[in-house]
Amino acid sequence: MLIVQAEHMGMCFGVEDALEAAESVNRPEAVTILGEIVHNRGVQEGLLARGYASQPENARAALPETPGVLITAHGISKLYRQRLETAGKQIVDTTCPLVTRLHKTAEKLVTAGYRLVLAGKPGHVEVLGITEDFPDTVVVADAAAVRTGLGQRLAVVAQTTTPSELFAQVAARVRELHPTSEIRVSDTICRPTRQRQAAIGALLGRVQALVVVGGANSNNTQRLVDQARQRGLPCWRVERDDELQPHWFADLAVVGLTAGTSTPRSTVQAVHRRLLSIGRTLRRAM
Ligand code: SF4
Repeated sequence: MLIVQAEHMGMCFGVEDALEAAESVNRPEAVTILGEIVHNRGVQEGLLARGYASQPENARAALPETPGVLITAHGISKLYRQRLETAGKQIVDTTCPLVTRLHKTAEKLVTAGYRLVLAGKPGHVEVLGITEDFPDTVVVADAAAVRTGLGQRLAVVAQTTTPSELFAQVAARVRELHPTSEIRVSDTICRPTRQRQAAIGALLGRVQALVVVGGANSNNTQRLVDQARQRGLPCWRVERDDELQPHWFADLAVVGLTAGTSTPRSTVQAVHRRLLSIGRTLRRAM
């Protein structure tokens, strides 16, 4: 059985850098993480075991009690940052530079007089980082959510992890429903997201089945599973190597392997090793 790995998969550099920064904090017990650095149970438990406090990402009303606050790679609004600074909080800022790029683009467009139409997940912490600073922003989860009458100057931007196809559909719908408006489209999807999307497309054309490594609550992991199933390929999502069942692969010659963006490299490597071992066992049994 041949195992073909996606060219790009798993944790992005933004989240890896944020975890590294969290590792280097000397007194984690004096720091609250705003939300989750990564939606991965094992990683989250490890951080809490080190002494970090955690505050749900949408709980903005009360400020954390600890003197330090860690901002995750998803970033926060200028408004929220000012509140933290005014309260004297020491900030450990792990905002991904590609999220910062989205903030700068948004600010430039709003300053130039455009109303933002943001393709993204309503309520997501990265989206809140934009809407808190620019409350006039219209957030749309997909093209069907785009309404008429949004304004005469519109700028379509994207949450960094938005699928390119969805973003293109949103932009097209905005144009269609606002034929007389001036419309700018700024593609703010990050490069790692783009690379992962291209890699899964290439992989699905080469394999008979797919294994996706990632958590049940990870959106992008589920999206990978959906993509495989839409192509009619058998697909299994696992969080750990010991969940793989040898009989799944009994009649397969080529199996693909990919992972959601919250999956650490070590977990993917363990799953890969186990797939190789299953392949060897099946070969011997033939
Ligand atoms: S913007 Fe892209 S690279 Fe940065 S943390 Fe988000 S997904 Fe990762």
